[in-house]
Amino acid sequence: MLTTLRRIVLAFSQEPDLEQGLLRLVSQVKEAMATECCSVYLADYEQEHFLLTASDGLSKTSLGQVAIGFSEGLVGLVGQREEPINIANAQSHPRFKHSPEVQEDDFNAFLGTPIIHQRKVVGIISVQQKQARQFDDTEEAFLVTLAAQLATAISHAEAKGISNPNISQNKWQKLQGIPGSSGLAIGRFYVSYPRSQLSSINLTKHDQPAQQIKRFQQSVLLTIRDFGQMSHRMRGTIPDDTLDIFDMYKHMLESASLGEEITEKINEGWCAESALKLVIDQYIVQFQSVDDPYIRERATDIKDLGNRVLFHLQETDHSKPEVPDDMVLVAQEVTAALLAEYQHKGLKAIVSLSGSTNSHAVILARALGIPAIMGVGNIPLNNLSNKQVIIDGYSGEIFLSPEASLLKEYQHLVKEEEELQDVVREVTDLPTITKDGKSIELLLNAGLSGGIDHSMKNGAVGIGLYRTEIPFMERPCFPSEVEQVSWYKTVLQSFPRQAVVMRTLDVGGDKALPYFPISEDNPFLGWRGIRITLDHPEIFLVQVRAMLKANIGIGNLEIMLPMISSITEVDDAIRLINQAYFEVSSETEEQVLKPKIGIMLEVPSVIFQLSELAKKVDFFSVGSNDLTQYLLAVDRNNSRVAGIYDSYHPAVLRALNHIAEHAQKELIELSLCGELAGDPGGALLLLAMGYDKLSMNSHNIPRIKWVLRHIDYEQAKLILSHCLMLSTTKQVHNYINDQLELLGLGGFVRAGK
Ligand code: PEP
Ligand code: MG
Repeated sequence: MLTTLRRIVLAFSQEPDLEQGLLRLVSQVKEAMATECCSVYLADYEQEHFLLTASDGLSKTSLGQVAIGFSEGLVGLVGQREEPINIANAQSHPRFKHSPEVQEDDFNAFLGTPIIHQRKVVGIISVQQKQARQFDDTEEAFLVTLAAQLATAISHAEAKGISNPNISQNKWQKLQGIPGSSGLAIGRFYVSYPRSQLSSINLTKHDQPAQQIKRFQQSVLLTIRDFGQMSHRMRGTIPDDTLDIFDMYKHMLESASLGEEITEKINEGWCAESALKLVIDQYIVQFQSVDDPYIRERATDIKDLGNRVLFHLQETDHSKPEVPDDMVLVAQEVTAALLAEYQHKGLKAIVSLSGSTNSHAVILARALGIPAIMGVGNIPLNNLSNKQVIIDGYSGEIFLSPEASLLKEYQHLVKEEEELQDVVREVTDLPTITKDGKSIELLLNAGLSGGIDHSMKNGAVGIGLYRTEIPFMERPCFPSEVEQVSWYKTVLQSFPRQAVVMRTLDVGGDKALPYFPISEDNPFLGWRGIRITLDHPEIFLVQVRAMLKANIGIGNLEIMLPMISSITEVDDAIRLINQAYFEVSSETEEQVLKPKIGIMLEVPSVIFQLSELAKKVDFFSVGSNDLTQYLLAVDRNNSRVAGIYDSYHPAVLRALNHIAEHAQKELIELSLCGELAGDPGGALLLLAMGYDKLSMNSHNIPRIKWVLRHIDYEQAKLILSHCLMLSTTKQVHNYINDQLELLGLGGFVRAGK
C-alpha cells in the first residue's frame, strides 16, 4: 500500500499542471482501490462551493462545470464534518444530491475524505462504485493518508495560482507570508537557488532539445571525471571495497538506459534538469519499493548521483539573470549568511519560502531596516524570477507584477515611510523620556553584522547585547584568546563611557559553528548556550579571559550568561569567571576590573527563582525571543507554527510583568534585549511595566525613541493594565494597534504615515 501511495504522490508531483496532475491521480487511485470512480473537488471559498475538477468515472463534460455548495450533498457533508464518510448505499442517504449532469446514477458505494491544509478544507476526494460496498479500514486509511499528502501540494498550487508556468507575465497576483521585518519595498525578485538539490527543481519545459542533450552529456562526463578523481584521491586511505562505490556510480552513469531515459524526456520537451529529476525520482521510488534492504539503500545512491549531475548542469546554466539594482532576494530558506552575502548589493527586501518570525535572518533584516516576509510556502521559485514585486512587511503581503494603480499607491506609501524615517531621525540625539517625564535607556543590540560605526549608534546609550557567537561563526575554527581580545577591545571602545554587555558564547539551537557540529533531534531543547560552555570550560575561560583583558584601561564591560535554567549553572559560571579574573590579574601589572555579571531570563524556570537569582548576579536581561519560544512551546523558526509564536500572547505579557515586579522588589537592574523591545507596542508595554532598559537593533532606536517621547507614562500604564486583563493574543494586538492609532503613532505598525 505504501509503495502504491508513494508512486501516486510522486506521479502527481511530477505534473507541472494541477489539473493534469489530478486527472492522473484519480485514475491511479481508482485502479489502486479496485473501484469504478474517483473524483477530486476543489474548494472555492468565494463561491462557497466545491468544484468538480478531476474524475475518472463521472461525466468528462462536467469537469470544471459542476459545483456542489458547501452545505450540499455528500461532498458538502464531508467538508462540513471535516472527516471521512463511508457509506455502502449512498443513494438512500438523506444528504445524497441528485446531479444528472455528472451521470452518477448507478453509483451506490461512496467513500469521501476531506483534503485539509492548515485547518482549512481545500478539497474533497471521493471514490464510488455501483455495487454496494462498505470500504474497509485499510482502504479508508489509504484515502485519508493520500489526502493528507495532497493537501500541501494542492493548497499551494491552487490557492496561490502560480503553479502554472504558462501564467501571464502581466497578470498580478497576491501571495501571503508571515510578516518578519516591517517596512515596504518595491523591487524585482532575484532568486537564490539552493545548489544541486533535485528536490528543489521545478519542472520546466524547453524548446531546444539538442542544446539540452548537449548540456546533459557534458554534465555526465564531468561527473564521471569527478568520480575518477575522488577514487584516485582516496585510494590508500579508505578500503578498496568502499572505493567500489565510485565504480558503481560511474557504471550507473555510463549505463545506456539511464542516459537514454533522460534523453527521451528531453526530447519530450523537458529541460535537462527536469528530465534528470523525472527519471531519478522514478528510480528512487522503484528502489524504495523493493523488500531487500540492500537494494532499498541504493535509493540514496541514485539520489546522490542525480544531485551530482545536477551540480554540473547548474554550472552550465548561463541563463542566470543579473542581480537587479532593486533586488528583492527570494530563496527556499533565507539564512543570516545568505542575507549577509547580498546585503551590499542594493538589497531592498527578503522573502523566504520557509522559516519564521524570529529566525536570525529576520533579526538581521530588522537590523538592516529592510522588510522580510517568511514562510510563504512551496512556490516554484523559477516562476518568481525577475518579476516586479511589492513587499508589505507589515501585513506579510507580496504583490506580484502589480497593476499600475496598486504600484502608484505603494510608491506613495514608500515615500511616506521615508518621510517618517527622516522625522524620527530628528530625535536621535535627544534623551528617551515620555511627555510626562519618565525616562528609560535605549541600548544597541550588536554583533549580528560588521563593526559598530557612529551611524550605527543612532543615539544608543550603550550596548545591551553583544552576540559574541556571530564572529565565532565567521571563522574556520575557534578563535584564539589574542584574536578575541582584539575584537572585544574594538567593541568596548565603540562606547568608551557607556556600559557594553557582552554575552558569552550562545551557540546551539539555530546557531551552529561550522567547525563544531552538533546534531540533535531537538536542538532548541538540547545543548545550547551556557550548557555548552560549562561543559567546555576551555572555551568559556578563554573567552572570559579575552573579555577581561580587552576591558583593561576601558572599564565598561559587563558579562551576560545565556540560556540559564538553574542556580547551579550561575554558580558554576561565576566560579569560572572568578578563576579567569584571578588568572588575568596575576598575569599583568595593570588593573583588571571585576565586571558586573548578569543573566538572560529566557528559560521559563528562572521566572520562579528570581529572588535567589537576584542575590547572585548584578542584572537581569530578558531574552523575549527565547522566552516566548519556551513559554509557548513553539519553535521560533518553524513556519508551520508561526501563527502561535507571538510575544503579545497574554501568558508572555503576564510573565514579563511578573519579572518586572520582582526585579523592582529585589532592586535589581532589568533590561529586555529580545525583538519585543524594538516593537512600538512592545516598548510601550515594557516601559509601563517598569523595565529600566530596552536593547534593540540600530534601525529601531530612533523609531522607538520617537514613540516613547510621544506618549505619557501614566497612559501607558493604563494601556498595560487593560492588556493584562485580555485573554487572547488577537485581542492584545487589536487593542495595542487601536491605541497607537489614537496616539497618532499608527504609521509605526502599518504601511503609510
Ligand atoms: C532572545 O532570546 O531574546 C535573545 C535576545 O537572544 P537570541 O535571539 O540571540 O537567542
Ligand atoms: Mg536567546
